[in-house]
Amino acid sequence: MATNSKIQWATATWNVARGCTKVDEDCKYCYMYRESFNETRYQPKEVVRTKSVFNLPLRLKEPSLIFTSSLTDFFHPDIDTYRWEAFQIIAQCPQHTFQILTKRPERIWKCLQQALKLAIDNNAVFAELMLRHWVNGNAPKNV
Ligand code: SF4
Repeated sequence: MATNSKIQWATATWNVARGCTKVDEDCKYCYMYRESFNETRYQPKEVVRTKSVFNLPLRLKEPSLIFTSSLTDFFHPDIDTYRWEAFQIIAQCPQHTFQILTKRPERIWKCLQQALKLAIDNNAVFAELMLRHWVNGNAPKNV
């Protein structure tokens, strides 16, 4: 996660993955693709889970406005298996506000239900509680 984001509407960025596949013409000027072409170690089409920054919102004590996943699409299918872990972190960080942008809004509902199931399977109680409320129509205040 980067703090003091250059983006005016966020004070930090947090990436659970890096990489994405394009959805439509609007992806033509994708920031992540442009940046990846400048850094040869990344393959922009490969969605790769982050390592050292994955849990970083837990370490950020100051309430922050967090741009969640500036280098991927949070609802990309390749994140389906571990999105519940990101929700577990979000649920443990009520001091932050998570701004999640997506070009895959049609996947949100399915992803919430899927994450709830995986949270239950993995005994992730914070995520389970938050996601149960969410799928019942009560979205968390910090997302
Ligand atoms: S969905 Fe977003 S991150 Fe993915 S290619 Fe399009 S603009 Fe880039």
